[in-house]
Order: sequence, then C-alpha cells, then structure tokens
Amino acid sequence: MKTIIIGGGLAGLYAAYRLQKAGQDYLLLEASDHFGGRASGWAISETNELELGATWVWKDFNPTLFELLDELGLTYFDHPAGATIYDSKVEGKSILNRPYSAGQRLVGGMPQLIKALVKRLNPHKLHLNQAVSQVTLKGKLLVTTADQQFVGDRLFLAIPPRLAAQRINFQPSLPDDVMSDWSEQETWMAPHAKLIYHFDRPFWRKQGLTGDVISDAGPMFEIHDISDEAGQFGALFGFSSLSPDERSQLTDQEQLEAGLVQLEGYFGSDIRKYLKASLLKDWTQDTFLATEADKLAKGHQFKSAQAVASGAWKYQLRGIASEFSPSYPGYLAGALEATDLAL
Ligand SMILES: Cc1cc2nc3c(=O)[nH]c(=O)nc-3n(C[C@H](O)[C@H](O)[C@H](O)COP(=O)(O)OP(=O)(O)OC[C@H]3O[C@@H](n4cnc5c(N)ncnc54)[C@H](O)[C@@H]3O)c2cc1C
Repeated sequence: MKTIIIGGGLAGLYAAYRLQKAGQDYLLLEASDHFGGRASGWAISETNELELGATWVWKDFNPTLFELLDELGLTYFDHPAGATIYDSKVEGKSILNRPYSAGQRLVGGMPQLIKALVKRLNPHKLHLNQAVSQVTLKGKLLVTTADQQFVGDRLFLAIPPRLAAQRINFQPSLPDDVMSDWSEQETWMAPHAKLIYHFDRPFWRKQGLTGDVISDAGPMFEIHDISDEAGQFGALFGFSSLSPDERSQLTDQEQLEAGLVQLEGYFGSDIRKYLKASLLKDWTQDTFLATEADKLAKGHQFKSAQAVASGAWKYQLRGIASEFSPSYPGYLAGALEATDLAL
C-alpha cells in the first residue's frame, strides 16, 4: 500500500519517517521549495538556524516529542530564566524575576528536527515544489499538482485543515460537515509576524537580563532570547503587535527599525553596535500556510479538526497536521500525535 503525504512540515516528515521504518511505501509532496513549514528557520551558520516559527518544546507536556528528539540524537536546553522586563503603557517599565515559562529549545534551533528527519528519508520519495491542487478517488488515489500526477492508495493530509478545504479540490467532494469544520479551524500562529535580530553576542546577559520582555507599549508585544546556550552568538525575536492590515502598510525595514528602537529602550543604544542582520517573517504572507481568513484569526483555539471523513473518503484519507491532534492542536507535539493516530 502506497501512502501519499501532502505537506512537508513536521507532520508530513514524521509520517514518512514512521512509514519508512515500518517498511511501507510512501511519497511526500511539498508545495514550497523547502521542508519544515511552520518549523522553518533562518540559517545564520552551518550549525545554527534562528526559528521563523516554532521555538519551544515542553518536556513535561510533550513526552512523545522528547522520545523522538532522543531517537534522532538531538539535544536541548532550558530557555534562560530570570529577570524579565515588563513594559506597561500604564505603569511603565519594571524588571521582575518572574520568568516567562518557555520550556526547552533545541541546540542549533528547531529546524534541526526537520533536518534530522529529512536526512533519514529516501530523497527519491520527497518532492519539493509540488503544490497539490486536486485529489481524486477512483479505486486508486490520483493526486494532481501543476505539472504531475501521482498514484497511490491512501492520503495523509499534512497541511492545515483550512488550507486543505480552500486550496484542494476533492473528487468526490468531502462531506459538508467536514468542509465547514476544516474551514473554521484556525491555523495556529498563521496571523503572526516575527521580527528577528541577530547580534554577535547576547550582550543583555551581562546586564543581568534574560532578554525576555512582555510589553503592551511597543511594536513587539513579546520578545525572547533565541541565542545559543553558551552565548557564542546573540539573537532576539519579537512578535509584532501590529495587525496584518497595519503591517501591510509598512515595509519590512520600517517595521524592523521600529522594533530596534523598542529594543534600544530596554537594552541601550549599544544594541546597534552588536547587530549583524535582521529579518521579518510575516506568516500571513506565506501563501502555502495562511489564507485570507487567517488575517482575522484571534488567539489559540483548543479544538481539533475532524481527522476522518465519513462517506467515500472514510478509509483512504487521514488528517495528520497539527490541527488534527485531539490533545495538542496547533503545537509541534500535535503533529506527532495526529500522525501516530493515523498510522
Ligand atoms: C510563529 C510561530 C511560532 C510557533 N511556536 C511554537 C512553539 O514554540 N512550540 C510549538 O509546539 N509550536 C509552535 N508553533 C506551531 C508549530 O510550528 C506547528 O504546530 C507545526 O510546525 C505544524 O506542523 P505541521 O506539519 O502540522 O504543519 P505545517 O508546518 O503548517 O506544514 C504544512 C506544510 O504543507 C505545505 N503545503 C501547504 N499547502 C500545500 C499543498 N497544496 N500541497 C503540498 N504542500 C502544501 C506547506 O508549505 C508546509 O510545508 C508555532 C508556529 C508559528 C508560525
């Protein structure tokens, strides 16, 4: 039996890894020119990537994920705890020893998890630049992209349910209840933008600060240290406080400069001396991950999408992306749980 996996983020790659280990046939189709999806990174050296998306894992909360990290030989460290800056419009700035509970980070950055999986998979089974537009069930499964057709027996949908409902034409159609459930399911974090600053050292640590900031006063509402553990390079990222519409009125450079001014206010003007590069990742601009509806999304919904459809697709389709997970919808751990349930 051949499984066709649509999507090359964590869920799709983990499914491929598990199928390969079990000696089963598979094929993975990824729309973009890289693997990783919402766990992609910005490479700053051969061994380090700064997270564009997922940053933390939580040891107490995600046991299966930590088993996988161990199996792949990946190592991790605790997010630094200590003095966090609280910046309030009403009360001004204060430094409190009340750390943001942020779990663990991977040595080399979260994209190391993606790289480790890709490295173990048969490259002939992985296809980049193949955006699936149609899937047809006629006894066999036919999966169509712009320039190719692939034949298999069952489908693992490793893309967010809302994208699947909007971008893929299912023949025969999916039941109405599935289409409306999937369309309503927010793609977690898709409305957000990250401003990422790479410094040659984490100079804020010398000031006794963790680099973490919680603010309702600046252009970034949460700022975190994403330097390596030993402090051989420095990096901070902040989530933009602006709405997707407000962001679309500004250039990346304008947003990054406003963020830098905010950082100067917390860590001093030396910050410019240490700055090596900066980058803005606005997930609403990522056509393979966000839809127009995601520009309006609010917060995290703790509801998972229906992973199994009734009717014609009942036996040959399983949703395995994170949003299909019953326990951790939206999180990395959810991508593993939804996949494990489908296998
Ligand atoms: C800014 C941000 C911060 C986050 N922080 C955390 C965190 O700290 N901890 C945590 O646990 N989680 C976090 N998350 C969530 C986490 O990244 C996701 O839960 C996880 O990466 C989802 O993996 P996935 O494989 O299910 O889906 P995705 O990563 O969304 O992968 C889907 C893949 O499908 C591809 N695709 C889309 N359409 C098609 C098509 N038609 N044909 C073929 N391929 C297609 C996409 O290009 C993409 O590669 C964060 C996410 C973001 C964006």
